[in-house]
Amino acid sequence: MYELKAVHKRYGLAKVALRKIDLTVRDREFLVIYGPAGAGKSTILNILAGITRPTSGDVRRDGVSILRVPPERRDAAMAFENYALYSHLSVGENLAFPLRARGLGAAEIASRVARISGILGIGHLLDRRPGLLSGGQRQRVALGRAIIRPADIYLLDEPVGHLDAKLRHKIRAELKALADDLSATVVFTTTSSREALALGDRVAVLNEGRIEQAGTPEELYHRP
Ligand code: ADP
Ligand code: ADP
Repeated sequence: MYELKAVHKRYGLAKVALRKIDLTVRDREFLVIYGPAGAGKSTILNILAGITRPTSGDVRRDGVSILRVPPERRDAAMAFENYALYSHLSVGENLAFPLRARGLGAAEIASRVARISGILGIGHLLDRRPGLLSGGQRQRVALGRAIIRPADIYLLDEPVGHLDAKLRHKIRAELKALADDLSATVVFTTTSSREALALGDRVAVLNEGRIEQAGTPEELYHRP
């Protein structure tokens, strides 16, 4: 379980991105943070990953503060909307990279690459270089590279935001099934209420740096 406790984040002197928020991410849940652009969603993910430090407040993992734990020791897998791929490596090699870095065997790597590329519909692109891909294809490869490896927590920042509706629906469903299958802990951000309600075990509604509501889709749906 991850907890943000009274986390406040100011950029520079004037810009307040998060206003003393409390947020719990339970083990093996799919938590969606839903809110408009500028609400503070990416800031929360960066704080969980250890890339950004809160101005005040605490971040805990199973009750222990991890504020001083650097990103490389937090074991968070991140996918950003504009994630850089290795341009000199093929799509298949980009997907395999995080697995090679962890010393997985060739058979295990091949099976994971096949499964993830099938889910994301990029199996026919494995031999291509990222420079030859469309924006939507690149976004799928970046998402694949983030979710292909085992991780303590997956932080997915609008990972399907740039895809067309049909593909978004397909990947949404398969991502959810994959997360359930792996018993993964996922924090997923979106500007789409439909996406939030379709995916989230729980949804936190973020606006101007404040969590306005949090609960299961059913709870949010039936609340005035
Ligand atoms: P979201 O992901 O919901 O769009 P962000 O967490 O990216 O929101 O940003 C929250 C607020 O903080 C926005 O007003 C944004 O402009 C501001 N912000 C984000 N990163 C920085 C930064 N590095 N420096 C200054 N302001 C920032
Ligand atoms: P549907 O599921 O009905 O295809 P969504 O709920 O995904 O639609 O999206 C609803 C609206 O929000 C659409 O107009 C879509 O373009 C917009 N939208 C969805 N995701 C994003 C995003 N990440 N950034 C900006 N707009 C988005």
